[in-house]
Amino acid sequence: MSRHIRKKLGENDKAKDAKGTLRRLWNYLSKMKIILYLVILMVFISSAAALLGPFLVGKAIDDYIVTKEASGLVVLITGLIVVYILHSMAVWFQNYWMIGVAQDTVYRLRKDLFHQLHQLSIPFFDKRKHGELMSRVTNDIDNVSATLNSSFIQIISSVLTLVGTVTIMLWLSPLLTLITLTIVPLMVFGMKWITKRTGRLFKQYQHNIGELNGYIEETISGHSIIKTFSREETAIKEFGEKNQRLKTAAYWADTYSGFIPKLMNVLNNLSFAVIAGVGGVFALNGMITIGVIVIFAEYARQFTRPLNELANQYNTLLSAIAGAERVFQILDEEEEAKDEGDAVEIVSVEGKVEFQHVSFSYEKGEPTLKDVSFSIRPGETVALVGPTGAGKTTITNLLSRFYELNEGRIEIDGLNIQTIKRKSLRQQMGFVLQDSFLFQGTIADNIRYGRLNASDEDVKDAAKLANAHTFIEKMPEGYDTMLRADGSGISQGQKQLLSIARAILSNPSILILDEATSSIDTITELKIQDALKRLMKGRTSVVVAHRLNTIRQADQILVLDGGKIIEQGTHDELLKVKGFYHGLYHSQLKESG
Ligand code: ADP
Repeated sequence: MSRHIRKKLGENDKAKDAKGTLRRLWNYLSKMKIILYLVILMVFISSAAALLGPFLVGKAIDDYIVTKEASGLVVLITGLIVVYILHSMAVWFQNYWMIGVAQDTVYRLRKDLFHQLHQLSIPFFDKRKHGELMSRVTNDIDNVSATLNSSFIQIISSVLTLVGTVTIMLWLSPLLTLITLTIVPLMVFGMKWITKRTGRLFKQYQHNIGELNGYIEETISGHSIIKTFSREETAIKEFGEKNQRLKTAAYWADTYSGFIPKLMNVLNNLSFAVIAGVGGVFALNGMITIGVIVIFAEYARQFTRPLNELANQYNTLLSAIAGAERVFQILDEEEEAKDEGDAVEIVSVEGKVEFQHVSFSYEKGEPTLKDVSFSIRPGETVALVGPTGAGKTTITNLLSRFYELNEGRIEIDGLNIQTIKRKSLRQQMGFVLQDSFLFQGTIADNIRYGRLNASDEDVKDAAKLANAHTFIEKMPEGYDTMLRADGSGISQGQKQLLSIARAILSNPSILILDEATSSIDTITELKIQDALKRLMKGRTSVVVAHRLNTIRQADQILVLDGGKIIEQGTHDELLKVKGFYHGLYHSQLKESG
């Protein structure tokens, strides 16, 4: 697509408070104030040199060529060369310094943003799509950087050039200036006419390309379904239609946008003809000199360029401001509440956990937990069971203070958890979650994440306890095998074993387990069960349970429904009651065959 097609602005590209955003961006920029002023100075010099060049040429014609005065001409031409060298140097310096300013600014912006992301609370992340956050850290900041790099200088220099040329032209001949400027409205209308059409066409083009890509993705990932149902013909036909639509849209968008440089050319030539013709008549009447005609011809060419550039920069600038605004919005988000001033550090705990009349809601007016009370003795295992949405995960969220309860009290070893520093509270806890997250790095690094100062031996011992050692040894480079961030290359079950090893290494007093629901082969499943048993031994464990095995062996089972504990007891006790748990157990037994 031609760069002349101006992108139509979507909702996302408009800043709500452009002025405020610019002011804050300026605050970032102003850390490099001195260099920025140097850049502006260079832009002044380069713009002035660009204006001075044609002016000197005109002077040379009038004062020396017409009068055939060679020595003066040599001096003037030397001056002209100096001006052009000065211009090139100023342009080089302004770009060089501006790159520094732009990169330093976005470096600080990126740093603050990343720092802020890690101060934000879990609720903040729960409420947002990860892709969108990623896009802020990467795209929005790139956008700001690109715009600072190019637009800043271009906008200042375009404005200076416009004002400069028109001022000198007016000074030389107000009448010829007015006649030359009649071309401007023609140009503006022409541009408007074309961009209105290209804007629409470009949007259509974007839409069609999105649709086509979506279709390709869908058919590739669903290719086996397509084959099973013998729908290849239909798929090819549908693709053909979308492809045709894209072709048409691209054809017209390119055609129309191709008009822009042509139109500019025609108008430029037109203005040249007008200046030469009208200027010639004026010169014959002695109203102006030949040199002035040359200056005008050159200036007329110079001011179409900045007009064009300002128009091109406008949308880029708006979308960069909108991007910057989105970045600032995150910087303004409230950080995870600070610990109370008198919050205490805990070094180690026995692991007694107590919920006293705890109520909580994510959204006001929609209680998620209602008056939940239970207590776990140190080293005991509690299984939380119940239908999806019953509030099991919420209980673990409150215990780790990812969310703060609304009513009641949670105690660990008799200490209200709200009086404990969050970091030290979480250090007492280990998490083995459904989606065991692995970072890009070696297997050893991934296990060591549980305790950064652990030795290689410790890592290996933890892996052995987690039943992970054997499969790690079989990997091409053993503990040094690189894992990818998307976790490809190892199975779901192996990922779990690694996250168990990680938890073993961190040696927490309280364990929070969210069992995986996904099916895992029987042998790995047995290994996981065995590793979990070892991990849970002697630790207080809160298990969001899906597997019958863990549930049966739990010291205590809490059956939740609708945010309330409806049954409580051991497996055998609960079966005897023949209530909710009894039903759940038998339906699961049936499912697992
Ligand atoms: P379970 O783990 O038993 O499946 P959860 O504790 O995850 O249930 O969820 C309990 C209820 O709270 C559900 O209705 C769920 O939709 C809601 N919920 C869970 N997380 C959030 C959240 N971050 N924001 C708002 N509501 C949530």
